[in-house]
Amino acid sequence: MMKLGLIGKKLGHSLSPEIHGFLLKKQKLEGTYELLEVPEEETDQVIPEMIKNHYLGLNVTIPYKETLLPYVVPDEDVKKIGALNTLKYAGDKVYAYNTDYVGVLYMFERAKVSLLGAKVTLLGAGGAAKAAVYAFEKAGAEKITLAVRNQEKAKLLQKHFPEIEVCGLEELPGGDILFNTTPVGMYPAVGVSAVNVDNISRYRVAADMVYNPLETEFLRLAKEAGLQTVSGLSMLVGQAVKAEEIWLDTTIESEWGEEIIKFLEKRF
Ligand code: NAP
Repeated sequence: MMKLGLIGKKLGHSLSPEIHGFLLKKQKLEGTYELLEVPEEETDQVIPEMIKNHYLGLNVTIPYKETLLPYVVPDEDVKKIGALNTLKYAGDKVYAYNTDYVGVLYMFERAKVSLLGAKVTLLGAGGAAKAAVYAFEKAGAEKITLAVRNQEKAKLLQKHFPEIEVCGLEELPGGDILFNTTPVGMYPAVGVSAVNVDNISRYRVAADMVYNPLETEFLRLAKEAGLQTVSGLSMLVGQAVKAEEIWLDTTIESEWGEEIIKFLEKRF
């Protein structure tokens, strides 16, 4: 029986078991996907425990995307992003990948939003923003700005990606895409947006990493102002599909991703 799972400090209600359960069923494979809450004092035990308990693959979330780096063999994407979100155990080693950036690319491709030459502003400078910046650079975005409340964190990210610009949340530069990578507006603290409608109106497309609710306050304001809106659900599915491809060394049929998105959309 194949063992998969998600590790994080606090997991709450995660959609990942449903997504991976669906993908395993489609492939006619038997496996389990467990939610594994780990206290931070046990960070150094994660990899030995993964090996000891024969997990083939794990997804990783806050706060372990960065703190597990010293214990794994990172691929080139992980080295460049400085964060991982997928682990695979193979031949006595645990390899690390980042599929969040693949999820970001999938999200915009699916919404038919071209990133080539785009002027993008990200709200927030956390772990997920790093993967998003990497995705936008890879896709040939022309200008990337981080709009943040905490300049220190953004400056750290700027060291990693020197070409990005940093500004406050009150006065955004405008452009093609405004991408919320903060948790602002996420259930249960719904009904709030990190930026006001005047700033939102300076863009053509608004995208949110948050997927619960499907339409956050940020996306609601953006829709009202006439922008194209993109929910974070497709990113979640995109990163999960890529993780499954890595674990099983396979290619997942694109219709399956669509099927899961449609199924989960109905649930919300
Ligand atoms: P993180 O590392 O904790 O970073 C959060 C960022 O948001 C930080 O820059 C933080 O700024 C900023 N922030 C938090 N509250 C804010 C507020 N009230 N106003 C302005 N900025 C605020 O978290 P993360 O891992 O990057 O994840 C961010 C969000 O993306 C979460 O909601 C997560 O669930 C979601 N996510 C979704 C997917 C998906 O597949 N759809 C994948 C990954 C993550 P400070 O430094 O000032 O606190």
